[in-house]
Amino acid sequence: MKIIKKINEMQTMALGFRRQGKSVGFVPTMGALHAGHLSLIRRARTDNDIVVVSIFINPAQFGRGEDYKRYPRKLRQDYQLCKKAGVDFIFCPSPSSMYTQDYQTYVEVVRLSGPLCGRFRPGHFRGVATVVAKLFHIVEPTIAYFGLKDAQQALVVDRMMQDLNFPVRIKVLPIAREKDLLAMSSRNAYLNARQRKEAAILPEALLLAYKLVKQGERNASVVIRKMRGLIRRAKDAKVQYISIVDAKKLKQQKKIKGRILVALAVWFGKTRLIDNMLLSA
Ligand code: AMP
Repeated sequence: MKIIKKINEMQTMALGFRRQGKSVGFVPTMGALHAGHLSLIRRARTDNDIVVVSIFINPAQFGRGEDYKRYPRKLRQDYQLCKKAGVDFIFCPSPSSMYTQDYQTYVEVVRLSGPLCGRFRPGHFRGVATVVAKLFHIVEPTIAYFGLKDAQQALVVDRMMQDLNFPVRIKVLPIAREKDLLAMSSRNAYLNARQRKEAAILPEALLLAYKLVKQGERNASVVIRKMRGLIRRAKDAKVQYISIVDAKKLKQQKKIKGRILVALAVWFGKTRLIDNMLLSA
């Protein structure tokens, strides 16, 4: 496994693979890797000749007062996990090389960036789309792997790729969960013992939505109200949003119909957790 920090070195490698006709599987991450990331890496390993994992905590996707500074940095542990998983290259550029002093170009996916997390994290998806576009130009992957954990992000990236004609395929893989079904996340490390225990209420709320819809409930606000009621039982939990939207355009659904995404963001103290579930009604 080789660790590459320089952008031009990564680009030269990418050009070489392209010339040799080798397929490149790419997993963009912000590090502090867990089993969710590893599921993407394993899939990339099975599908491709070469596997590249990027570890880059992207300052452009963090808002003012968000957790950029304290985001977990565990490079040494990440290297070991990647090595064990058969990764060929880790690409970990410095923020100042990705965003030079005179940096002024951004990619904006206008409509899909608006709802859900976009409402509460202005500029977040602009930062995501921009860094993914940059990484795609640098790594030139054949297939890029994303997690459904960040369902809106996967849709934003997919739209960006189509709109800007990136010759990349995208695969979106299921959410890896802990034993109590809490979605794995690098941010779970922020939770204290009590919050960690309480956080299992999030997948429980999504399962409640699933059950209600299966039982025939079609009124989105009834489902959301019952989910809120359940989450209220966790003392530290503060709901930021619970939304039911259509799974393609993320338009709010009053009446549950077709393929929908139930998505939520909930604060536990200073930690913001997100989770979601795709459903068909
Ligand atoms: P991050 O390091 O949080 O930016 O995540 C990097 C990639 O891993 C993104 O495509 C995420 O959606 C994906 N990912 C994060 N957590 C999970 C999870 N629990 N299950 C599956 N994929 C995940």
